[in-house]
Amino acid sequence: MFDVTSAKCFHYYGSGPIREAFSNQEGVSVLVCLLFIQVCCMPSEEKPRFVVLYGSQKGQAQSIAEGIAEEAEEHGLVADLCCLNQSEKYNLDKERAPVVFVVSTTGDGDPPDNALQFVKRIKKRTLSPDHYKHLLYTLLALGDTNYANFCNCGKTIERRLQELGAKQFYQTGYADDGVGLELVIDPWLEGLWKAIKGALSNMAFDGTTQLKENVEDSAKDIPDSSPLDVQLKRLSITDKQKSELDSHASPLKIADVRPASTGSTGLPSESTSSAPHVSLVASLQRSVPPLSESSLNVPALPSPFLQVTFQEADVVEQTFEPLHRETLHQVPISKAVQLSKGDSVKTAILLELDISGCPSMNYQPGDSLDIFCPNRAEEVDQLLHRLGLQSQQNHRVQITLREDTKKKGAQVPSHIPQSISLLLLLTWCLEIRSVPKKAFLRALVEHTSDTTQKRRLQELCSKQGAADYNLFVRDPSLSVLELLAAFPSCSPPLSLLIELLPKLQPRPYSAASSLLRHPGKFHFVFSVVEFPACSGRPTGGRGLCTGWLFDIVNPSLVFPVQTEASSSPALPKIHVSLRPNCSFRPPSDPSVPVIMIGPGTGVAPFIGFLQQRQEERKEKPEAQFGETWLFFGCRYRDRDYLFREELENFVTSGTLNHLKVCFSREDRKDEEEPRYVQHNLLLCRQRVTDILLRQNGYIYVCGDAKNMAKDVNDTLLEMIKAELQVDQLEAMKTLAGLREEKRYLQDIWA
Ligand code: FAD
Repeated sequence: MFDVTSAKCFHYYGSGPIREAFSNQEGVSVLVCLLFIQVCCMPSEEKPRFVVLYGSQKGQAQSIAEGIAEEAEEHGLVADLCCLNQSEKYNLDKERAPVVFVVSTTGDGDPPDNALQFVKRIKKRTLSPDHYKHLLYTLLALGDTNYANFCNCGKTIERRLQELGAKQFYQTGYADDGVGLELVIDPWLEGLWKAIKGALSNMAFDGTTQLKENVEDSAKDIPDSSPLDVQLKRLSITDKQKSELDSHASPLKIADVRPASTGSTGLPSESTSSAPHVSLVASLQRSVPPLSESSLNVPALPSPFLQVTFQEADVVEQTFEPLHRETLHQVPISKAVQLSKGDSVKTAILLELDISGCPSMNYQPGDSLDIFCPNRAEEVDQLLHRLGLQSQQNHRVQITLREDTKKKGAQVPSHIPQSISLLLLLTWCLEIRSVPKKAFLRALVEHTSDTTQKRRLQELCSKQGAADYNLFVRDPSLSVLELLAAFPSCSPPLSLLIELLPKLQPRPYSAASSLLRHPGKFHFVFSVVEFPACSGRPTGGRGLCTGWLFDIVNPSLVFPVQTEASSSPALPKIHVSLRPNCSFRPPSDPSVPVIMIGPGTGVAPFIGFLQQRQEERKEKPEAQFGETWLFFGCRYRDRDYLFREELENFVTSGTLNHLKVCFSREDRKDEEEPRYVQHNLLLCRQRVTDILLRQNGYIYVCGDAKNMAKDVNDTLLEMIKAELQVDQLEAMKTLAGLREEKRYLQDIWA
């Protein structure tokens, strides 16, 4: 493989006019550009290479990284693609080619599972400050501003790379899933190729990777006045050659896609045929000008890489045999209690799991449990119908790599067991409700026969159609099934779904119990997620896991007043695995004060904390226990005040010193009366700030990431500003310090 080092470059350009060119400034550009032209025209094994490394929890970062690797060839480059945990396949200690990182963030700012080891490695304090002096990198960080530690994994990696001497060759992209990842990703990808080429040119030129420290400056240098342009003029390369080279530099394939059938107005046939009375309102299936008249930039077509064959099975497969059986347990639900009352509140249910048969599931308060849920049977059935595969649902599926695939690093997905039946594959392995990504829409275009529908799918995945994509696909969380219903002439093969749908993810639920109080049992509480009907979805629906749990326990539900559920039908077993949380734990020193903020189901882990503390107080009556505060909130006192009796008992026993509760939907006597947890927090600001700033206390926040966690964070900032008489920046530093010390901890979800 070609390695762009100065030595090799001189090998190619050792004499003649090139040596002369070296003697002046312009010549430098000329040389660098010639290098580029030369390397672009080399046989494929000698193309300049760069490295793409990804860390991905749900497959998003991985698919972006794969896209970059695939597109490399169009730009005359070769990409080595690796997951960060494949440390045997790459070696940053010796890497001389530019490195592109694409990393997501999960949980409370944590690295994805497959980036954990890498982050640990680069965090080692024994590494010297010039450890990565030779390294040129850029980074695309994926995150969600609904969470406090936005893009934390990307930021951590970047900070460490810089501390270890690595140089950035292209500015970092911070993509926000809260508003649409593509807002940042698209322009970032657009500029990436020139930046990589610029970095390779610089490395080729001086061999010492002397990039400017200021990437903004160097970014200015790279694109418009790039050596490539200068070179093209100087050497009078023919226009044809030039346009070929230019097309290599374009990150998006510019498919000049015109409307399917355009009349004088340029509207697609659906609109023009009924003119002049057509109402120009866009919908999932229909666009309006200017989009309907626009040329489109569509993403590159993902290369197909899987081949699927069916084998008739003698025996019908009834049960799912999940992978990773060592960590997975099938446990019975031993109790299901409805904690909420009435329609005006979210349905909250407490489930008790009998884990006495699984000694390895020794959990601590603060841990959670991953629950593996199946896709809904009727949705799987509809999908089978839609794919025309209903008669093959019990056939075994064989998945192999296509021999002719151009996809870099193509692999048979590891989350699909070999020879699983089609029905079980669609039921347990693929997130069939996931929102189709633009690459997916692009791939669907190739399997759509109707030209109007084809054009609309192209629009939805195009740069120009980004707003329509957000409005009609992303915001309403449209599923593949709903999309296929809207585009009836689209008939994708099963292989495409397996290639492009992510793995069905387990859903985590926080422990709402302590083993000291409930030996052999794990309690958790969930609220049933409900979402409304919208364009493309005639009826509303329920969250996948919470809807499924609700359905399986509904016939056996009891209410808190009914103590025993003995007459109820037997409850089923479910697949779970323990998900330890090493930081969201009660303090190891019980004498430090603790503030807990958990409205709604966010109270769950604090029930575990308090049960544990109550038992510990019984065991060690002489020990010193710090002050405990709990801020809880719900809509109505008599409908969704979860664990009311238990919380009041904690207060009576002295385990909980301060219980602050507010009800957001009840009439308030005056405006001063708190409505949300942060209002109550503010009312107690002196005590709370004292605990945090002077008594080494801990603050825990659990529950809704979208609004509550942010509001609490803002309120804490205000309280610190007022207490310490400092400005916003100082207050933010103080709060960041608490986070660093792991005394401000969050367990939040969207
Ligand atoms: P999903 O089907 O995954 O939907 C997720 C979200 O997407 C929904 O909120 C919904 O708004 C939206 N959505 C999905 N489909 C559509 C659609 N078609 N239209 C519109 N919107 C849609 N939850 C608890 O209740 N209790 C807990 O103790 C708890 N602990 C957690 C601990 C951790 C560490 C984490 C990360 C999460 C925790 N959660 C908890 C959240 C839980 O894991 C699930 O995310 C939640 O229950 C929703 O799962 P679901 O499968 O029912 O919803």
